[in-house]
Amino acid sequence: MATDLPVSCACGKLKGIAKGVAPKSGNHIICYCKDCQLFQHFLGTADAVLDAHGGTRIFQMSPGRFEITSGSEHLKCMRLSPDGIVRWYAGCCNTPLGNTVATPKMPFVGVVTQCLPDVDAEQPERALGPLKHGVNGRSALGDRESLDAHDSIPFSMLLDFMVKMLRWRLRGDHKRTPFFDAGSGELSAAPNVLSDAELEALKEQRAAFTASAA
Ligand SMILES: [Zn+2]
Ligand SMILES: [Zn+2]
Repeated sequence: MATDLPVSCACGKLKGIAKGVAPKSGNHIICYCKDCQLFQHFLGTADAVLDAHGGTRIFQMSPGRFEITSGSEHLKCMRLSPDGIVRWYAGCCNTPLGNTVATPKMPFVGVVTQCLPDVDAEQPERALGPLKHGVNGRSALGDRESLDAHDSIPFSMLLDFMVKMLRWRLRGDHKRTPFFDAGSGELSAAPNVLSDAELEALKEQRAAFTASAA
């Protein structure tokens, strides 16, 4: 059964709705990659967001079903490097929102579930359906023996994701997303691209966090 989930940043200035959330309409995953961890260090939200293995809970969905209804002036984005994934957040209070690529032609958003207040941290499957995959487990923190995750991204998941994305594109969802200007196809906010020094500083924070998690 599909559910419409409210979207809200922590301070409530940015609000929206994630429409039609269901196991069939997206992918409930946990990503353990370094870059997802660095994004939370950038926001200062690593303690609140990352699990004991450094994982970020994400629901990958159509960006055409993710609506911002108020506070879109607080929509900000950053990139860890000039070619990196575009990582969106609410600038009013540094709540992570989600990840996209830099072009609307590959329409998806990996929604970081911290912006979905109805997702119960203890029972996230109630709202999102069962966890489909843990991915990029080779960058996970702590004891990996106890972790049920793929080393990278399994091919079956990529294939399923491509099929979903094609369906969303055919539906025209790439033309109605808060992350891109419908006319020009440009990102709707200019990304803050980190300098080498800023990136190094985040890596040091991650190393310190890793040490404290171990
Ligand atoms: Zn806020
Ligand atoms: Zn990741």
